[in-house]
Amino acid sequence: MTLDLDQPLLNALLAGEPVLWINPGRGTPAHHQELDCADMRDAEERLRRFAPTLERLFPELVASQGIIESDLVPIPQFAGAVGASVHDRWFVKADHALPIVGSIKARGGIYEVLVHAEALARDAGLLGTDEDDHRLDTPELRALFEQHSVLVGSTGNLGLSIGTIAAALGFKAIVHMSSDAKEWKKIRLRTLGVEVVEHSGDYETAVAAGRESAEKDTRSYFVDDENSRHLFLGYSVAALRLRDQLTAQGISVDAEHPLFVYIPCGVGGAPGGIAYGLSCIFGPFVHCFFAEPTASPAMLVALASKALRSPSVRDVGLDNRTEADGLAVARASELARDMIRPLISGVFTAEDRQLLQDLYLLNTTQNMKIEPSAAAALRGPRWLGTEEGNKYLLANDLTARLDQLTHVIWTTGGALAPDADYFGWWQAGAVQAQARQ
Ligand SMILES: *Cc1c(COP(=O)(O)O)cnc(C)c1O
Repeated sequence: MTLDLDQPLLNALLAGEPVLWINPGRGTPAHHQELDCADMRDAEERLRRFAPTLERLFPELVASQGIIESDLVPIPQFAGAVGASVHDRWFVKADHALPIVGSIKARGGIYEVLVHAEALARDAGLLGTDEDDHRLDTPELRALFEQHSVLVGSTGNLGLSIGTIAAALGFKAIVHMSSDAKEWKKIRLRTLGVEVVEHSGDYETAVAAGRESAEKDTRSYFVDDENSRHLFLGYSVAALRLRDQLTAQGISVDAEHPLFVYIPCGVGGAPGGIAYGLSCIFGPFVHCFFAEPTASPAMLVALASKALRSPSVRDVGLDNRTEADGLAVARASELARDMIRPLISGVFTAEDRQLLQDLYLLNTTQNMKIEPSAAAALRGPRWLGTEEGNKYLLANDLTARLDQLTHVIWTTGGALAPDADYFGWWQAGAVQAQARQ
């Protein structure tokens, strides 16, 4: 396959060096956009409609009345520790602590299963028409859902999300896990009655297996992480919530006060949906950067290449092996790629040892517990100080406004990681932090 990547970029990727790639497509006209901003608002409405159902199914949602949301947390100590000149405009969007599954997958995954359940309920004539009576957790519906199955392929977190909500509604849930998936996620799912199928291959293998097995049965529904509009829209709703949280913190976003957002990227659905939603709200005043491991820069390669099909990082000569299991995806979603090409600012990569070091630093400065994947975006603001970053600021006429930027770093998972796993990463991160001093 021809990759048509610049030689210097290709060399850096192959050498495993962290890079910042600026997207030349930002600001170009969008074509073939399959979704629009009204779809995001529909998704938000659907989540509101089913919030009472979620609240009854998951007691941890009582406080938020069935709304699945994370906090926007200022991180001045972390900003100070990494040498920022202005500390009070750095935030973490704390999806690592999202209720129910402790990762960003709670957004898209739960949304898509609700969409499917709603459609089945409607077809069966079992859904109340009264706005106040949109119950998906009735005995009649449970009996219906028990005759249907929901399948998914995952490196762990999406499986955990889909399996948990599908089982809670009564579906037969089958999760195909790649070799990256952590044992505790499989155990947790099996305890909920979910069937877990283990694969020795990577993410693409697990997704293909789930897709194929779902095709054999008309009562099977496959959540397609590589192509799903519903997942994408479920994620996009985060943008509306972030808008309200920024307002609550007294932060405005405009030409004078641009918003910089950094989000870890695997197949692209989660960061893609969020970036899309943010651009609906803030237009050119939001600048989104995606973060990927040096071993798995799937979205970077997909955007940088002109190939119609997203290339695999294996075509570049990389092995897709990383501690960041949530980002261990070799080939990016073409739906996500095409939706974000006209709007994201760029993609940067981080080495595994940097992820661990930042995981450690975020814990010692702000007492947050995140997994390696979730640490990928923490270098975002620091990239702006590099030559590449500076070029971007110059091109956007922002060099004089550096102190007026708001930085939102998305942490995407980790709150539920077992202490033993977490301590292992933390210790490795401490070693990296020492080595750097
Ligand atoms: C899935 C995941 C991501 C990225 O989401 P994609 O939709 O795969 O791009 C980031 N962080 C964590 C922890 C994840 O599980």
